[in-house]
Amino acid sequence: MALDELYQEIILDHYKHPRNHGTIENADVKIPGKNPFCGDEIILSIKLKDNIVEDVAFEGNGCAISQASASVMTEQIKGKTLPEAKELFEEFSKMVKGDIDFDEGKMDELAAFQGVCEFPTRVKCALLSWNALKKALEQKNK
Ligand code: ZN
Repeated sequence: MALDELYQEIILDHYKHPRNHGTIENADVKIPGKNPFCGDEIILSIKLKDNIVEDVAFEGNGCAISQASASVMTEQIKGKTLPEAKELFEEFSKMVKGDIDFDEGKMDELAAFQGVCEFPTRVKCALLSWNALKKALEQKNK
């Protein structure tokens, strides 16, 4: 299987079977995100414990890229510390904007979104959930 087909498959799988889908009852932060260019919407819920992302979930609807990106993100940041989550955000956003050569081993499923950098209108879709995460982290730092 070609690499881009594999990546397609990861995205479709997460779109059809989103991980951590739903909402968290007693979340510490709930952040809505909207991408009016494509009509994507998400609500990100995060529960923290001692500076660690103890639980994370999302609800929403929109295109495959936006929803799959949210699904992959929740899997990636669960159990991470806030600085680690922030670092991942920075790497991911650079990758989808085509600014860095990412570390394939490190990025694993996130790497499926690297092709997005060739479609500027899709970058906002891929970053929707991550921008919500960034807002959530900023709120917690206040
Ligand atoms: Zn979209």
